[in-house]
Amino acid sequence: MIEILSPQVANLIAAGEVVERPAAALKELMENAVDAGATALTAEIRRGGVSLIRVTDNGEGMSPEDAARAFMRHATSKLRSAEGLQAIATLGFRGEALAAVAAVSRVELLTRRRGEAAGTSLTLEAGVVTAHGEAGCPEGTTIVVRDLFYNTPARQKFLKKDSTEAAAAQEAAVRAALARPGLSVRFIKDGAQTMHTPGDGDLKNCLYSVFGGELVRSLCPLPNSGGEVRVSGFTGLPALARSARFMQYFFVEGRPVRSRVLTAALEEAYAGSLMSGRFPVCCLHISMPLETFDINVHPAKSEIKFQYERAVFDAVYNACREALRQAGPEAAPAVRIAPYTPSGGPVPVLSASSPSVYAAGVPRPAGPLPSPPPPPPKPPEENLAWRLIGEVMSGYLLVETPEALWIIDKHAAHERVIFNRLKAGERPFLSQQLLVPRAVALSGPELDILTGERAFLEEAGFDIDVMGPGALAVRAAPGDVDESDIPALLSEIASLLLSGRRPDLRDEAMQMVACKAAVKLGRSSQREDMERLAGLVMETPDLRHCPHGRPVAMRLTRSDLGRQFGR
Ligand code: ADP
Ligand code: MG
Repeated sequence: MIEILSPQVANLIAAGEVVERPAAALKELMENAVDAGATALTAEIRRGGVSLIRVTDNGEGMSPEDAARAFMRHATSKLRSAEGLQAIATLGFRGEALAAVAAVSRVELLTRRRGEAAGTSLTLEAGVVTAHGEAGCPEGTTIVVRDLFYNTPARQKFLKKDSTEAAAAQEAAVRAALARPGLSVRFIKDGAQTMHTPGDGDLKNCLYSVFGGELVRSLCPLPNSGGEVRVSGFTGLPALARSARFMQYFFVEGRPVRSRVLTAALEEAYAGSLMSGRFPVCCLHISMPLETFDINVHPAKSEIKFQYERAVFDAVYNACREALRQAGPEAAPAVRIAPYTPSGGPVPVLSASSPSVYAAGVPRPAGPLPSPPPPPPKPPEENLAWRLIGEVMSGYLLVETPEALWIIDKHAAHERVIFNRLKAGERPFLSQQLLVPRAVALSGPELDILTGERAFLEEAGFDIDVMGPGALAVRAAPGDVDESDIPALLSEIASLLLSGRRPDLRDEAMQMVACKAAVKLGRSSQREDMERLAGLVMETPDLRHCPHGRPVAMRLTRSDLGRQFGR
């Protein structure tokens, strides 16, 4: 027998799609405020949004009739006919969000239309109206959502710890703020205000109030672009790069979106300035004709499909590329590698304009750095006679020995050389107290896991504290690490922790230092530098793997080649 689902059941099913966690409910409520023309909103959560989510806006408000209708399924004021679907400019138009949220919580609504004398109050339990009346309230709308999922225990089980849900909700507020610099967003978590953006229309000021000056100073503004697809905003210097795609914010016509086309274009613009496994940070606003993209692929409305992918890719790629070019040498530093001496000790390059391995690779710790011991003498693997053929595909050295052809990954080789040196000088952890606490911009999940692991970090010499929704204050850090590397190191540690690993923090710190130096050094294509590096790899057989476990060199023998050619 075919049965028609009751509206309550249909709403519960829809609720699962639309509001899978408090952050999703908050996102919907904030989008409604924006759609109502609000210029300011306050979002408040308690206990990760499970016990309370409250969004107050100064938008146009609702009439008493609309207030009741708003919670009915497929109730929307944003779509009058099917044609409207094509070029809909508001954030939501499925008319599902309020019904879905209300179905799984206790809701209170207070709203007053602009210019009207009285307001309306409405109370719902599990989607059913329990009270409806007149109320005195300011113009605009306040929606309070309590006890989310109280009537759906199965959903409740999927919720993470409060701090994780709170981080996700904060991230939603951060996105809402970055999406609309003209909207002032206030975020209050468990009674404490953690973010307040000015709403003055300036994206830079908005970024400043979310992440702090530290991050803003390392952002490159995108040049003005014309054309059908226009891109504006900021992209981060390579030094800000993360080990995961955190803090890549893309907005299309003011909506936060995810798209492989956009990430690919961004990351392609950094080709040659980042090691693989490092991801740039950005906040990009893209505008294009409304009929050339589709944003409602997914119920959460974050996946986007473009009609002209190539044009979008090119616009983003060119804008970011140009921004980095204009940022100059800091975005693409040209650094030579240090000469290699057979004793194993590097000799600093003498020219002032070309920092040595030491300058680039070794931080300025409080005490003197132990001098690197020479590599242990190991018998060479094969005949030492080798010849550098040259560099191919900007990054690989070809070396010939009598028995084989070697392909050396320049970056990986540099990284390994520097790491070995640091490792050789290993000594107990030292913590360096920073003169001025350093603000480190982090994404919600990064922040959440690091504060959750504070004790673990303290063992390694970190002293950290939460500063805001997107920032951590660092008062002390492991002694080996250069202060400017602290943000990258923390984000690296965060992503390892997020992937379920407990890194050896000492090793992480050293790898970070080695990796950063290697990126810079890997740019050199001077013949003598390449000879030196090839020599190091060919004459030190344990330089086979870089600290991340990637191979440094590959060996192709005559018989390998023969096999390939079917000889
Ligand atoms: P949608 O946003 O897709 O229309 P929702 O369920 O999110 O569906 O909202 C239903 C309707 O309720 C909206 O179309 C709008 O008319 C009204 N509404 C919701 N939130 C607000 C608000 N903060 N201010 C004014 N009207 C609102
Ligand atoms: Mg909506």
